[in-house]
Amino acid sequence: AVQITSLNKWYGTFHVLKEVNLTIPSGSRVVICGPSGSGKSTLIRCLNGLEAYQQGTVTLGTVRLGDNARETALARRQTGMVFQSFNLFPHLTVLSNCTLALRRVLRMPRKEAESLARHFLEKVRIPEQADKYPAQLSGGQQQRVAIARALCMNPRLMLFDEPTSALDPEMVKEVLDVMTGLAHDGMTMICVTHEMGFAREVADQIVFMDQGSVVEQASPLTFFTTPSHPRAQSFLNTLL
Ligand code: ATP
Ligand code: MG
Repeated sequence: AVQITSLNKWYGTFHVLKEVNLTIPSGSRVVICGPSGSGKSTLIRCLNGLEAYQQGTVTLGTVRLGDNARETALARRQTGMVFQSFNLFPHLTVLSNCTLALRRVLRMPRKEAESLARHFLEKVRIPEQADKYPAQLSGGQQQRVAIARALCMNPRLMLFDEPTSALDPEMVKEVLDVMTGLAHDGMTMICVTHEMGFAREVADQIVFMDQGSVVEQASPLTFFTTPSHPRAQSFLNTLL
């Protein structure tokens, strides 16, 4: 499980995360939505140590981030992250992008790393692209490589920050399909996305943020039919 308790963060004097409390059971899928600037990216970056915070705790499994350097590093390694921009290494082939951390961080022998990488490239349905370079792929294919690369590290938790918002519409579905497959496999997932169809089908919890606070947390059914907070209502209206 992921446990976020009384999380507060400031950028200088700007209070960007205000008393955030969330419990995300293992195997559950949470979609975080909310207006631009509400703190969604900042929140998920706090979950894998990309951002420092001033108050509160983040616990991944049994590890409280920051308590113990070695355990924190291990917990981070078991957290996969996929961003809006794919962040692939342009000078490495798809296969090498996927094997890099396995070889450098886990010291896995090349053959073993490559066979694991090919397994996950198959899973994201692009096994035939293994020897290409990122620039030779479509955006949707690059994003699927980024997902495969994250899966290679055997994550317990996957974080997604608007993984489809930089993609052309026809490529959005192929990435969402891969994410839906992961959800069906039982992966714990936290996704910032405005893809409300995905949220409705895949999420078991919707978290709505506004101005640094979680103002609504509900099942998709409740969130989409009877959101209780006026700002969630007006947010949904802008999407329709
Ligand atoms: P979007 O939907 O546009 O991605 P978001 O909900 O992800 O928005 P964040 O990126 O988390 O929002 O930003 C929250 C607020 O914090 C914004 O007002 C932003 O300007 C501010 N902010 C983000 N990063 C920094 C930073 N490094 N220094 C100062 N302020 C920042
Ligand atoms: Mg963001």
